[in-house]
Amino acid sequence: TEDFTGRRVTVAGLGVSGISAARALARRGAAVTVVDGGDSENHRATAGALAADGVHVRLGDGSTLPEGTELVVTSPGWKPESPLFAAAADAGVEVWGDVELAWRLRGSGAAPWLAVTGTNGKTTTVRMLASILEAAGLRTAAVGNIGTPLLDVVLGDEPHDVLAVELSSYQLHYAPSLRAHSAVVLNLAPDHLDWHGTMAAYAADKGRIYEGNQIACVYNAADPATADLVRAADVVEGCRAVGFTLGTPGPSELGVVEGILVDRAFIDNRREQAQELAEVSDITPAAPHNVANALAAAALARAYGVAPAAVREGLRAFRPDAHRIERVAEIGGIGYVDDSKATNTHATAASLAAYDPIVWIAGGLAKGATFDELVTGAAGRLRGAVLIGADRHLIREALARHAPDVPVVDLERTDTGAMSAAVQEATRLARPGDTVLLAPACASMDMFTNYNRRGEAFAAAVHALASEPTVAG
Ligand code: ADP
Repeated sequence: TEDFTGRRVTVAGLGVSGISAARALARRGAAVTVVDGGDSENHRATAGALAADGVHVRLGDGSTLPEGTELVVTSPGWKPESPLFAAAADAGVEVWGDVELAWRLRGSGAAPWLAVTGTNGKTTTVRMLASILEAAGLRTAAVGNIGTPLLDVVLGDEPHDVLAVELSSYQLHYAPSLRAHSAVVLNLAPDHLDWHGTMAAYAADKGRIYEGNQIACVYNAADPATADLVRAADVVEGCRAVGFTLGTPGPSELGVVEGILVDRAFIDNRREQAQELAEVSDITPAAPHNVANALAAAALARAYGVAPAAVREGLRAFRPDAHRIERVAEIGGIGYVDDSKATNTHATAASLAAYDPIVWIAGGLAKGATFDELVTGAAGRLRGAVLIGADRHLIREALARHAPDVPVVDLERTDTGAMSAAVQEATRLARPGDTVLLAPACASMDMFTNYNRRGEAFAAAVHALASEPTVAG
């Protein structure tokens, strides 16, 4: 591993990953300064704690580069146009993300990475993959946006055979030397364009995950852009392109035949043409997008050499996380479903396709998205829509253009209490047999700390309905 002794490193952002980066670098003898634009009580308390580890913290200024900086380590989410990075570029100073740092600091003989990115399904796929690897008796961890920061897992005391790693496009942008064992881009749809600038730049960042892959580059056969990224990547000789499809698999693909997940890429017995892995009914929920996630996870596990029986056992053991198409209650014949994690139009399209008729609760921060395609695709299934949040007018206008007959309630609210009003309005619009679906197609930060809080607010409002018969009807 690299020598950091005496190196002057600036860490951008006093968040969970910034703190873990600062500590790791200080332990290796680097002279670390964390910079952050904030200067709250909380910030100061954290700064005080870090001082004990020999880390200097500069609050109230996240834009200027501290004198003498030799390397910048950024937190996920800092925009590339942040003045700090312009200053770093001017000074000829390299910028690494937390993933790059983890990759560089991992010890010799460290566990290989099975890496997952895509616009939607990353967390689900990584957790399915970890479940499969565990079923195979391997020492593993699911690392990514939930749970332990990547650095803490990679540098921790617990030994691992292989890691299932979720990587965002931000993290890939700042991880130039990462080389995965095998990797997948699950799908590519416009998201975070406010951060990446263009779709091409976003795709290029996602495609970095294939660079230097050793065994397999897994792509989505239904999403040709992902196969294009495989073709563009520079991989180790002998590394294979492996597709997954919800239909009958071709050679070198995993797919579905009569309700059975079938592998035609990694075949143990040379006389066989295909290997049966699991049944669609082994997957919870067995919605199409989730079967795709399972196929992707299975492909990575098979690339690592996991046997079919462990794939099945791992998929059977898997249960989805909260706020991902989660059925909250049924009241008076109306189903209430929380898909708060649907923070972009691509994810929302998947859940809108799963129900009919729907009273749709949507809105929040649009992150530069447009809603015409989403609304056109769902128009026939919408009983009504209830809109909340900062950018709700964008959805209202798309509904007016493409679904003028659908009744829309624009709550004109961005306060936290709006969710309970939204659930009541949605209930008024719904009839028995309908589904009230929270699938916001937007980020939550205009109204909530995160999508978890938004989903919890929805569930609380639904449960309040249940105890209030006049509203529930
Ligand atoms: P990520 O980690 O990429 O945000 P999650 O697994 O947390 O992905 O799921 C995010 C949202 O996307 C959820 O609303 C989920 O229902 C939806 N989703 C999951 N997998 C897919 C997929 N393969 N295609 C489209 N939408 C998906």
